[in-house]
Amino acid sequence: MNAEAPRPVSTPTAVEGVRLREALSRLPAYKAGKPAAPREGLTTYKVSSNENPYPPLPSVLERVREAAGEMNRYPDMSVAALTGAIAEHIGVPVERIATGTGSVGVLGQIVQAMCDDGDEVIYAWRSFEAYPIVATVAGATPVPVPLTADARHDLDAMAAAVTERTKVILVCSPNNPTGPSVTTAQVEDFLTKVPAHVLVVLDEAYLEFVDEPDALDAVAVHQAHPNVAVLRTFSKAYGLAGLRVGYAVAHEPVAQALRQTAVPFGVNSLAQVAAIASLEAQAELDVRVAELIAERTRVQSGLAEQGWELPRSQANFVWFPLGADGTAFTQACDEAGLVVRQYGDDGVRVTIAEPEANDRLLEIAAAFRAQHGPVR
Ligand SMILES: *Cc1c(COP(=O)(O)O)cnc(C)c1O
Repeated sequence: MNAEAPRPVSTPTAVEGVRLREALSRLPAYKAGKPAAPREGLTTYKVSSNENPYPPLPSVLERVREAAGEMNRYPDMSVAALTGAIAEHIGVPVERIATGTGSVGVLGQIVQAMCDDGDEVIYAWRSFEAYPIVATVAGATPVPVPLTADARHDLDAMAAAVTERTKVILVCSPNNPTGPSVTTAQVEDFLTKVPAHVLVVLDEAYLEFVDEPDALDAVAVHQAHPNVAVLRTFSKAYGLAGLRVGYAVAHEPVAQALRQTAVPFGVNSLAQVAAIASLEAQAELDVRVAELIAERTRVQSGLAEQGWELPRSQANFVWFPLGADGTAFTQACDEAGLVVRQYGDDGVRVTIAEPEANDRLLEIAAAFRAQHGPVR
């Protein structure tokens, strides 16, 4: 999802003669992520989509190659083997797992299962760009609640935003694109202020990169609250972004509803085998994740030494809250061969990638400060 923040676009309803849904005219304009443009004598890096820089593990690739020989067959519609493997991995009954085409797909299933036209979906802003899109497409009303000044969820304000129409609250931890995570204590306190019929979704797309000791234990919170679901993905730490597979951990009535709203055969056979093989290769993947966490720590301390005061990221990216200076920073990165992600006048997000790409970021950031002064 690479769309700019909500900006209405005109939909050519009258011209075509058909009448498109009015909700579609409220969608943010879609802005496709661009590949790194080749630069003379320079390796370029796409650090704009929070992808895993490592290529697929050989063991995973081998299983996908084998499965590719049977692509004339439909995948297992019930996703039984993968669902079983996930349930075992997490330690919950298999009935509580629902899969989808990436966690964005599962999020769509959640909103479809929960919201009638005009029902409200509360989320922090800025947060994941897919939230307003998924809510709007389903006919729900997006209710963005501003982050605090230090780029964290304002859970009190989010609880205060609940109305009779609220059906879903999304909590993104660590938050994309700003990086901080919430704690279990904060979420437990938040849940005392939220009606029990509202589904609280803890989106943990970057869970594996979290290293704070008091970090959110979303599955434990889920176990204790029937209205809490957890959203996870194979796209980031597991490096399967191109295969589209994610899942929710939800109590049975909700998980069942997510299976009802799933696209039939949505999780394809290659995605199913790759995800299973990835869970089996957990130890190997953990090594890669540990290296990315070490790189994040190195980058964050390097930037702090340069004088940058950035939010503490618990994910595989760093956030530069540059305001309008983000344009100049994005351009400086672009010229140096780093394709980064600018979010309007809020800031710039840069994915932690190969050490060479991270070195490049540190160089650009130092030069930028030297030229522009202490912007933030
Ligand atoms: C990347 C991301 C996802 C995962 O998307 P997929 O559809 O699983 O690739 C979900 N939530 C957030 C906050 C993300 O940044």
